[in-house]
Amino acid sequence: MIDEVRQGEAFAPFKGDPSVFPKKFYIESYGCQMNFSDSEIVASILHGEGFGATRNFEEADLVLLNTCSIREKAEQTVRNRLQAFRKVKDNNPGMLIGVLGCMAERLKAKFLEEEKLVDIVVGPDAYRSLPGLITEAEGGQKTVNVLLSRDETYADISPIRLDSNGVTAFVSIMRGCNNMCTFCVVPFTRGRERSRDAESIVNESKDLFERGFREITLLGQNVDSYYYSSTPEGAITFARLLEMVALISPLLRIRFSTSHPKDITDDVLHTMAKYTNICKYIHLPVQSGNTRILQLMNRTYTREWYLSKIKRIREIMPDCGLSTDVISGFCTESEEEHSDTLSVMEKSRFDMAYMFSYSERPGTLAARRYSDDIPEETKKRRLTEIINLQNAHSRESYKNDIGKTFEVLIEGNSKKSDRDWCGRNTQNKMVVFPKKTTSLKKGDYVQVKITSATSATLMGEMI
Ligand code: SAM
Ligand code: SF4
Repeated sequence: MIDEVRQGEAFAPFKGDPSVFPKKFYIESYGCQMNFSDSEIVASILHGEGFGATRNFEEADLVLLNTCSIREKAEQTVRNRLQAFRKVKDNNPGMLIGVLGCMAERLKAKFLEEEKLVDIVVGPDAYRSLPGLITEAEGGQKTVNVLLSRDETYADISPIRLDSNGVTAFVSIMRGCNNMCTFCVVPFTRGRERSRDAESIVNESKDLFERGFREITLLGQNVDSYYYSSTPEGAITFARLLEMVALISPLLRIRFSTSHPKDITDDVLHTMAKYTNICKYIHLPVQSGNTRILQLMNRTYTREWYLSKIKRIREIMPDCGLSTDVISGFCTESEEEHSDTLSVMEKSRFDMAYMFSYSERPGTLAARRYSDDIPEETKKRRLTEIINLQNAHSRESYKNDIGKTFEVLIEGNSKKSDRDWCGRNTQNKMVVFPKKTTSLKKGDYVQVKITSATSATLMGEMI
């Protein structure tokens, strides 16, 4: 999932931190939640090296971009952003510029050749080496570390929370991906799948709860294949991990992302149903509604398998919120096959979707095997049809909630007015409601009756 609102978000200075740091760093994050979570690990490593965070890159000694390669547009955004730093670096030649994340991994040393102002290139598994790389770069040596690892999970590093609302946080539970979807660059930029020590996940979640956080999202490219075997009690599956985290406190909400339709088990669904604090919401990327295209994508399920998963989720949790990812115009997709995607959406009735047109990524299996033969205007037109249909479904889904009452976790002031609170219901829908004159605060749970809706927000009154 890529949250458009957060793209390019910069780190806030550590709140209430009185110490004056000898040096300042600035970090901007792009791409999926995993990257935002990684930036919090990087912040923690830099903090240990005497770097304080700034939101103003002009005063930084070290400027970092945590980058995304998932589509060509994401890479272009980063290249444009680098240009903005050029002028500042001209005036302050001592300032170091580092590129982290997937684009660093994909381009490796080529990055230094292509973008002359870059001093440091670090891949997602090499953040522990940042202090050494910075020292080398300070001495005038450009540096690269893009080694991928089979076991790095940063389990022992306590992340510093990015511009946090103090209520919701991400906890990374695994890294990498073994799935090899043919369109996807992630297996090449983030390496092999590995699961993080379950105890360290539970401890980090407990610590967050004790510090006042009330919702955590367990993160991985494919959370349902979480498997941690080195425990005295035997192997821990994702269902078991969910239960362990849910048992920390009934006041701590649990979410997770992303699930792969081939891996989400009945065990996970029953665990979700059993605990009220595990949110009733699943992000289940479909990508295409046509079995031939799904095969070309190497998604390893069919249209029927996907629809049977949706049916199963609704049997076990009739009130479960559902969202998806869709790609339009994958290699050789016919009009009829595109219609299959629209009809899978009709049958599944997602509350929300992330929708993209196919962007060929160098080095992926699809780039090597198939020709990117759907004209750009056809991809765009199909994408528009997908978006229009989803908008209609979202409107209908949100409208159907009018009159219902939901438990909402208050996350803070609404974007539009500090006289309103905003927060999510269990289905992950944003709810906005007037504060009235009560003594409620961020992190409290309230019951809200829905009185009106748009296609992305519910409005209501506390009861
Ligand atoms: N692991 C997750 C999954 O399987 O859904 C997330 C992968 S990726 C960060 C998020 C989404 O980007 C994918 O689900 C897919 O819809 C989209 N995506 C990935 N590669 C793409 C490409 N080459 N062109 C267009 N969209 C792409
Ligand atoms: Fe990419 Fe597929 Fe892995 Fe998701 S599951 S990260 S789409 S290869």
